[in-house]
Amino acid sequence: MFDTRELGRRPGALKRVSRSVVAPKGLGIEVIGVREGTTIELDLRLESVMEGVLVTGTARAPLTGECVRCLESLERELEVDFQEMYSYPDADDRSREADTGDDAEEEDMLFLEADLFDLEPVLRDAVVLALPLQPVCRDDCPGLCADCGARLADDPGHHHESADIRWAALQGLAETMRDGEKENAPRERGDDSQEK
Ligand SMILES: [Zn+2]
Ligand SMILES: [Zn+2]
Repeated sequence: MFDTRELGRRPGALKRVSRSVVAPKGLGIEVIGVREGTTIELDLRLESVMEGVLVTGTARAPLTGECVRCLESLERELEVDFQEMYSYPDADDRSREADTGDDAEEEDMLFLEADLFDLEPVLRDAVVLALPLQPVCRDDCPGLCADCGARLADDPGHHHESADIRWAALQGLAETMRDGEKENAPRERGDDSQEK
């Protein structure tokens, strides 16, 4: 909650506020977000206008997430701008009297409550919109091996043909069925490439 009392109601009055807040729960999406309890740095500019207080600001926070390709954890800095109008409660009364049927319009409006405004919903929307939907540890992350799940960035030369895995599995099965009878290890397939 932020206080606007010092700002006063004279249109044109300006106030700058810098504050660190503790990140609330659930500020993010499944793959990336601001971890609960980390610090969000806020720089706000409050401007008194006729109908209320116009809040313009920037938020900076550390992001933690997971690369969608290789599942490696990753960290980013988030910086996001936002702007929101908080109307005086009496402006609400006036608009209610003026047009009673316009529910959608009213739901979108935010109001000052006893000269305080709640930045959390605004911050939440701004942060979630600014998050990468498909965060990657690096732009050219090669992801995981589709066959064995190895992280390809750690092992650039990694490759094997899927047929070999199946072959090895069959071989293993055959060995089990022979019940102890010694068999040769699966032959190396050499370089003849077998795409699946
Ligand atoms: Zn990655
Ligand atoms: Zn592999």
